[in-house]
Amino acid sequence: IREKIIRAKKLEAVSHLAASVGHEIRNPLTVTRGFLQLLQTDKDLPFQKRQEFLQIAMEQLDSAETIISDYLTFAKPDISNVEVLDIGLEIKKATELITPLANRHSVVIENNTANSHIKGDRSYLQQCLVNILKNSIEAMPQGGFLTIQSEVIEGQYRLSISDTGIGMTNEQLKRLGEPYFTTKGYKGTGLGMMVVYSLIKAMSGSIDVTSEIGKGTQFTINFPIVKQELTIEHTYKAKSVS
Ligand code: ADP
Ligand code: MG
Repeated sequence: IREKIIRAKKLEAVSHLAASVGHEIRNPLTVTRGFLQLLQTDKDLPFQKRQEFLQIAMEQLDSAETIISDYLTFAKPDISNVEVLDIGLEIKKATELITPLANRHSVVIENNTANSHIKGDRSYLQQCLVNILKNSIEAMPQGGFLTIQSEVIEGQYRLSISDTGIGMTNEQLKRLGEPYFTTKGYKGTGLGMMVVYSLIKAMSGSIDVTSEIGKGTQFTINFPIVKQELTIEHTYKAKSVS
């Protein structure tokens, strides 16, 4: 199955992120508190039960941690700080950050991106890249190749991130970016791609996905390139301020 989706309609405003993140994290914290309270008050709980409750509490804390990392490891919701970014450098940073996870999954990363300048929020861009790269690696439990390439077309920086992983069905592709859509059970949040779509939209970019079951998935992200003269002027100004 091969499907291409252009997803402008599904995109949500970045401002929604800040409001929902508190809500999302509250759930696992409330559950954790409930179980800890049981452990505190019921002194006669059998050992087996105590272990079980502790296990649940830890899983819930892990879940809160995953939500935080999908939502706002980098992003400061609502407060966008737009600057001219060297996208090649930002990709390199995100790739370095994700390398330990790739190594644990026997995934080989090939980064062949060019340097160019775009306008955006550095932390938003990092959050997007890391969320996509993380999904790609998670789609290759048996190992594989994660290829990151770039092209400059008609004033656009076209970034492609492809994996040789499990791929997605048509139905899964359609639901990608829907809040809470996950195929990873309790280990997934179903929030990573929603965040990606929101933030890319906020940075005037666009994103397409193609996927083939058993073959892999390719994300194509476009950002308008900032003209070189503007970049130099910006850099000069930034330097003269500091
Ligand atoms: P999560 O990773 O927590 O499940 P995401 O929003 O990041 O949530 O992703 C939603 C779902 O989209 C995943 O559970 C997975 O089914 C699918 N998906 C995302 N990226 C890929 C990929 N590169 N290959 C295969 N499936 C993917
Ligand atoms: Mg994810």
